[in-house]
Amino acid sequence: MSLSRSDQMARIRSRDTKPERALRRELWRRGVRYRLRHPVPAGRPDIILPGRRVAVFVDGCFWHGCPVHYVPPRSRCEYWDEKLKGNVTRDILQTRLLRAAQWGVIRVWECALLGESAARVADQVKRKIEGEQSETAPEWRVIQVFSLDQRGEREQRVMVDLYNLHTRCVVERARSFGRARSEQPPSTP
Ligand SMILES: [Zn+2]
Repeated sequence: MSLSRSDQMARIRSRDTKPERALRRELWRRGVRYRLRHPVPAGRPDIILPGRRVAVFVDGCFWHGCPVHYVPPRSRCEYWDEKLKGNVTRDILQTRLLRAAQWGVIRVWECALLGESAARVADQVKRKIEGEQSETAPEWRVIQVFSLDQRGEREQRVMVDLYNLHTRCVVERARSFGRARSEQPPSTP
């Protein structure tokens, strides 16, 4: 199956995914009242608490470079390479812009919301919403992947810190280390 570029672009904006709905449901159960796609100084985050000035994003593992689950497609490598770089750079700038405008930013990986773990993540998110948000540890995202052998079974992954575009690290690992169950990139959102 081949997708046109506009199809692929549209999928990046996929909203209302199952993991996102799971998080919303769990937050609601915990008494957190939010708005959806409310405009803020940098875009329209998935979940917004305007009173508390907190924006919550649910990031897909494939589109946003999950450090565990991102696996580069085997075809149209240059296109996907650029796409990943663009998406991750945008995430970082968006996060920085919001924080500069005194907004709290919480970004959750879709894979963290699969099945039973949604409730636990909602507890963490609720605590972050209500408390101080002090990020001390880097939050890594894959921004580029290099193949280390002919068959592309081993790869070198360049990761960048969500809070600092200049903080990077490199890890080597097998290609398909463990794809998130929710994703079959790039053919589903
Ligand atoms: Zn993931």
